[in-house]
Amino acid sequence: MSIAANISLLKSEVERVNVKLVAVSKTQPVEAVREAYEAGQRVFGENTVQEMTEKYEQLPKDIEWHLIGHLQTNKVKYIAPFVTLIQSVDSLKLLQEIDKQAAKNNRVIDCLLQVYIADEATKFGLGFDEVVELLGSAGFSALQHVRITGVMGIATNTDNPKQIREEFYELATFFKGLKASYFRKEDSFKEISMGMSGDYKIAVEQGSTMVRMGSTIFGKRVIPHWKNN
Ligand SMILES: *Cc1c(COP(=O)(O)O)cnc(C)c1O
Repeated sequence: MSIAANISLLKSEVERVNVKLVAVSKTQPVEAVREAYEAGQRVFGENTVQEMTEKYEQLPKDIEWHLIGHLQTNKVKYIAPFVTLIQSVDSLKLLQEIDKQAAKNNRVIDCLLQVYIADEATKFGLGFDEVVELLGSAGFSALQHVRITGVMGIATNTDNPKQIREEFYELATFFKGLKASYFRKEDSFKEISMGMSGDYKIAVEQGSTMVRMGSTIFGKRVIPHWKNN
């Protein structure tokens, strides 16, 4: 199927249950993003600063760009002027740099805390205890130009649906706890970004508000997976 057909099918499937579709365009050429854009898609996810800034420059300015990959503090400045959501915040130090660069650009940048839920040593993210420590810290309270709007998680890469379901359930439960403890009065704390091409149905069933889909929309990525995670 074409990119346009995939977009309309997936968009209607997830939007019907109020879930946002983030089209993960990493490693895909600008033309592929444009095709998705012309099919009505406005939210795109990239995992590197380099690729995101290159595509941002070439594509329409009403696109919402989400960073979904590990972000180094020295690169925040390149995306701070335009990024819509940084989904992969995994330290207070990074959050402080985002705050600083957001202030320079006279804006508030929305962020998700990436929470480690997988049974794999290779994934980035904060442990549950580290999230609690971060949110309770004086360093966090001092920030004025970042807004935490939720959490993001990546399930274990397994074909065991029971394990994936448990991991998503844990993330959704953790989100509810954070909401009650730290964000009770903040309507903007509402996002649970979970679910990719292989597991989005389980994620939606477990309360995802945002799915990040790459290969189901654009086809297989041409770059080997060990270069683009
Ligand atoms: C690549 C990537 C995705 C999309 O993966 P697909 O399996 O192609 O849908 C989603 N989330 C993150 C964090 C990614 O790096």
